[in-house]
Amino acid sequence: MVLTSRPRARRVQAVLLVPTVSVCLIAAGAPTPTVPLGVGDRLFPHLGNPGYDVDSYDLAFTYTGSNREPLTAVTTIDARTTTSLERVNLDFTHGKVRSVEVNGVRAAHAGAGEDLVVTPRAPLPKGRPVRITVRHTSDPRYGRDQEGGWVRTRDGLAMANQADAAHLVFPCNDHPSDKAMFTIRVTAPKGHTAVASGLPVGVDRGARASTWTYRTEHPMATELAQISIGRSTVLHRTGPYGLPVRDVVPTKDRGALEKWLKKTPAHIAWMERKVGPYPFETYGLLLADARTGFALETQTLSLFERDFFTRPELPKWYVESIMVHELAHQWFGNSVSPRTWSDLWLNEGHASWYEALYAEEEAGRSLEDRMERAYGASDQWRAAGGPPAAPKAPKPGQKIDIFRPNVYDGAALFLYALRQKMGSPAFQRLERAWVSVYRDGVADTEDFQELASLFAKRDLRAFFRAWLYGRKTPPMPGHPDWKPTSARKIEVGPHVKSRPARGGRAG
Ligand SMILES: [Zn+2]
Repeated sequence: MVLTSRPRARRVQAVLLVPTVSVCLIAAGAPTPTVPLGVGDRLFPHLGNPGYDVDSYDLAFTYTGSNREPLTAVTTIDARTTTSLERVNLDFTHGKVRSVEVNGVRAAHAGAGEDLVVTPRAPLPKGRPVRITVRHTSDPRYGRDQEGGWVRTRDGLAMANQADAAHLVFPCNDHPSDKAMFTIRVTAPKGHTAVASGLPVGVDRGARASTWTYRTEHPMATELAQISIGRSTVLHRTGPYGLPVRDVVPTKDRGALEKWLKKTPAHIAWMERKVGPYPFETYGLLLADARTGFALETQTLSLFERDFFTRPELPKWYVESIMVHELAHQWFGNSVSPRTWSDLWLNEGHASWYEALYAEEEAGRSLEDRMERAYGASDQWRAAGGPPAAPKAPKPGQKIDIFRPNVYDGAALFLYALRQKMGSPAFQRLERAWVSVYRDGVADTEDFQELASLFAKRDLRAFFRAWLYGRKTPPMPGHPDWKPTSARKIEVGPHVKSRPARGGRAG
């Protein structure tokens, strides 16, 4: 994700209304309580659920033609139990659940915090496949000061689930450590077009409505799913080695946006020269007619607000560098997903790194100058948001607060330090190996440290500890003259001559 103008309105968390439940050990034989569970994420204790691994989701949405009405939906989850389960917790809130089936048999269900707790007729044994079918609604309306996964556009809907909003759209195991395959079906009335993450499987055209089906060829985290429904046009082009590239644009804007969209194949080729083959089956931009204030790296189809490409005050190099930021996430964050949200710096640090490197190579914007400015600000970013790999928890009701400068240029600064430490050739080999070894997988800070140590041919544990977990920024290798800047002089992120009218940071 990258903020491109004003921050999103903060979502008031329903979870605040529910007292935090600490789960105690239950005596053997006693029934498990109906409480929200989590996978132990330090920043989001109730995200994800223990006891099963999801293999695939089949999501089927029916859109009425109005983005002010709930969609009807059927979510089918194929999972495998990793322990015996009396109850299965899914993450889901903000929609009405009509029925739940477990392996084709009706099951009881109840809400607990932001969890949907399903009780099958009989306990599920360990290590078995299980199919859970939930019939529910998916409501794109959120209260004032609320936000969720659906983004209402002028002509329909798009999706922005990061970090913790997928479960406001569909029942799921809403944590990036449990990636799964997705089949997404959308039925929408005549005049609309639906596009989703992955490649099209087919479309059933009816007189009044059509159903589009998309399927991913690679596992995906719930936070990265994308569905676009609108009066849109899909533009097709070809990327490196025949990669299908498709963009989704409001039909009326297709001509005006083409000068930007046609740059994507060259961006992909540039990234491939840096880190190796593009990791997915397709790519493209979804340009939503909405004021979101951010761009988001939804898998195979990055979400941008249309106006980001029409604001005359934004320099060309800056717009392109943000396109590259979201593209770089397809490798860093999407193909290689964070094991916990504290590993977010691996996503944003790398995306900011390639964003800055592109701006240097293609537009002469000095990376070293940007890093020196980041060094000046780094101690204050750490004070405000924590060190890059141990970010402070988001404030209650402000969960996207984890997207702070400490994990953007603050983490890119660490990558610069690492390159200084191990030398450019070894650093480049590390980057290529990282996205190859952990492709389609999940990895964390320690995994990166171990691989870096391998390529540096020395133990980098102390270096990582100081840079990623320290309260103060360590000295920069090769730049002993770099010093923290006093608060008033700090300029954040890349230099943009005139900032977006609404202010806010970028980077
Ligand atoms: Zn980002």
